[in-house]
Amino acid sequence: MTQQDLESGASGPADTSVQPGMQSAWKVALEQYDRAADKLNLGAAVRDVLRYAKREVTVHFPVQLDDGSSRVYTGYRVWHNLARGPAKGGIRFHPHSDLEEIRALAMLMTWKCACVKIPYGGAKGGVTCDPKALSTRELERLTRRFTTEISDMIGPDSDIPAPDVNTNAQVMAWMMDTYSMHRGYSVTGVVTGKPVSIGGSEGRQEATGRGVIYTIQEAAKAVDLDLTGARVVVQGYGNAGESAARFISELGARVIAVSDSQGGVFNGDGLDLPLVTRHKQETGSVIGTPRTRPVSNAELLELECDILIPAALEGVITERNAPRIHARIVAEAANGPTNPQADDILRERGVMVIPDVLCNAGGVTVSYFEWVQDREEFFWSIEEINARLRRIMVRAFEDVHRTAIEHDIDLRLAAYMLSVSRVAEATLTRGFYP
Ligand code: NAD
Repeated sequence: MTQQDLESGASGPADTSVQPGMQSAWKVALEQYDRAADKLNLGAAVRDVLRYAKREVTVHFPVQLDDGSSRVYTGYRVWHNLARGPAKGGIRFHPHSDLEEIRALAMLMTWKCACVKIPYGGAKGGVTCDPKALSTRELERLTRRFTTEISDMIGPDSDIPAPDVNTNAQVMAWMMDTYSMHRGYSVTGVVTGKPVSIGGSEGRQEATGRGVIYTIQEAAKAVDLDLTGARVVVQGYGNAGESAARFISELGARVIAVSDSQGGVFNGDGLDLPLVTRHKQETGSVIGTPRTRPVSNAELLELECDILIPAALEGVITERNAPRIHARIVAEAANGPTNPQADDILRERGVMVIPDVLCNAGGVTVSYFEWVQDREEFFWSIEEINARLRRIMVRAFEDVHRTAIEHDIDLRLAAYMLSVSRVAEATLTRGFYP
């Protein structure tokens, strides 16, 4: 492609604005952190260090489109804190992704890895783009160029990306291949969430949903809720949401509503999930699934149910709708779905919120297993993976729940107290170089 092609086809960077009315994800992340830092009485020096992301890289790069024109895209990779190990965190492709969002999600990854005691630091990446408007070849070119742009950061010892919103095992395969091409040999451990055929792990695809269900089982015991027949609502029917819905229905619960970016579907007797999945595969949306009635994403959050699983994007449960949320348990499969003001309202109303850093940590946990297997070139069975995942999730839930009871606080603050203190200890033990 010539410089002229690049110039003639350019249509400018995509819209990077936060969705209207939405509190910045970074503000929310900082407030959640500050609450924990206050409660821990964290020393001023380390408190300050942990309020910042260690490294933030923004890249602008051209991608040739199928019609011969080109477009410049903007991408990010942010490392929050690496005191406990290499950087770990997903890559998101979304029209509203921007540096603040990615920074917030990188910080969450630091706390999440510490919450489940996985030896990683926190990172996140993203490209501001609408992947649904791109062909497969365009998406591949965008992925490969973005990988090259951040290739001085990523690597099996330094920073290991994984899938997130609108990225999947195929995107990870392109990232792994691109990185390997530059090295001249296969580097399987540079990303996780790859297809099993190229060093991926059994169970990674559904690990986030499986982990969500392990924490819900523990929470249900704590609030004395029988999962058999329990009514479940899931916002976001993607990787995390679809698998969480499937696993909880296997436990005898009734999934009465699910949604995607276009809206939701409801059936009070319980949805036929295989039918919903097939309908989404065939039409691109859950909307219109036979034997369902439509429901908006806003209505869906306020439906009468026992368990609400937000599994889409951040900032959906706020002080505006928290008073009308009827669930007994909110299980945060998504990252950052609830703002601090909503947390306070839900706590007052007796709703148990399983916070993102605990609830959806099954994904990074099996990513860790994948990385360990790649490094050892020795692969585990699905039974071994699920058993280890369950042990880690149950232990983490117990630690957080015990802390919450001891201090009479909600699960988020308890999870943050544990996580922030572990990261602070690692940061202080290593000292401030030089
Ligand atoms: P995905 O792209 O596979 O699925 C996202 C789903 O949300 C899609 O069904 C999409 O249509 C829907 N959606 C998008 N915007 C929406 C909106 N405004 N309202 C309702 N639905 C909407 O993504 P994913 O990997 O399942 O990630 C979902 C959430 O889970 C994110 O917050 C992500 O950070 C978090 N998460 C994912 C993983 C993982 O392993 N994939 C791990 C931990 C946390």
